[in-house]
Amino acid sequence: MGLHHCDYMKVEAEMDNSKAPSSSGAKVYEMLWDCKFCGTKKLLGKTHRFCPNCGGQQDPSWRYFPSDSEKVAVQDHVFVGADKICKACNSLNGAASEFCGNCGAPLSSAATAQQIAGRTKGEGDTFQTEDVQKRQQAVQIPGLAAAAKPAAKSGGFLNKWVIIGIIVVALIGGAVYALTRTVNASAYVTGYKWERTINLQSLQPVPDKTNCDSMPGDAYSVSRNYEQVDTRQVADGQTCRTNQIDQGDGTFREERSCETKYRSEPVMGYMCTYMVNRWIGVSPAVSRGDKVTAPYWPDTNASSCFSIGCKRESGRSEDYILMLKGDGDRPFECSVDYDLWQETKLERSFDIEVGTILKNFVCSSLKPTA
Ligand SMILES: [Zn+2]
Ligand SMILES: [Zn+2]
Repeated sequence: MGLHHCDYMKVEAEMDNSKAPSSSGAKVYEMLWDCKFCGTKKLLGKTHRFCPNCGGQQDPSWRYFPSDSEKVAVQDHVFVGADKICKACNSLNGAASEFCGNCGAPLSSAATAQQIAGRTKGEGDTFQTEDVQKRQQAVQIPGLAAAAKPAAKSGGFLNKWVIIGIIVVALIGGAVYALTRTVNASAYVTGYKWERTINLQSLQPVPDKTNCDSMPGDAYSVSRNYEQVDTRQVADGQTCRTNQIDQGDGTFREERSCETKYRSEPVMGYMCTYMVNRWIGVSPAVSRGDKVTAPYWPDTNASSCFSIGCKRESGRSEDYILMLKGDGDRPFECSVDYDLWQETKLERSFDIEVGTILKNFVCSSLKPTA
């Protein structure tokens, strides 16, 4: 039963704001600009290519977004692209122009007006007049802009962690290499052990609780309770944002994008608490010995009954162990297969690899000496 408590939001039918300059549903308004020559403020980006007061040139990089109350709509606007800037006289020309309207120079290799970064607001918020001075400061003094960006700092930080990571990996690799390095040594047999194990299960009453629909058929002592059995996500209105996108031709378009909000709602149902008999692992039966007694399987008193307390087998394993001494007469043990265990005589010598640092005997390398 999965309870999903998170109140996540799903993006539904999000409008793509970065492309699609065509204005289906989007409203188009004039960007604003201030005349640098005579100081006239809030001139219109589309209508006033030159200052109506002094004739000064509009600089597209100094355009800014108006406040909500200052917005001037552009009727029947056809967007053809960002403005072209004449190389010869710096005049702004529409994207469709081939020659400068001011001086007649060809515009084939003209630069296009740079679009300024868009902005966005939530429902109920108001756009203020954009502070163009502040934006230009950040652009013109790159040192200041970089200092204001915390990302520049975190880049160095990241590098440091990458280097630390490489060092750690190298150290671990080196340690693994050193610890697994071995040299050849010899050993001889000093004794024998065997062990046989039968794993056992016992039928036991187990309490459990599930949705009543998925209760196992052999449940008993059932009690039902009406309660929350799951959580589901229910659509609960929308969160909308308004985005303003500079089109680079003295206008910007305004679009709304909405996401459906979701809230968690409890799902009620009948939960059942019950007992059920299940086979549960219990301590295994084990027999052990040396070579004096032949290996045998232990008694389990398992029976084929199906009432509580009955036992049954759930797998067997056997282990045949050679006791050895090697490398400074240190004793150790290795599991081997039954035939090798059975045929190997006392004091028989073996080749074995020994770790150079931990001095551990590597049983997988154990081989009778030729
Ligand atoms: Zn002016
Ligand atoms: Zn020109």
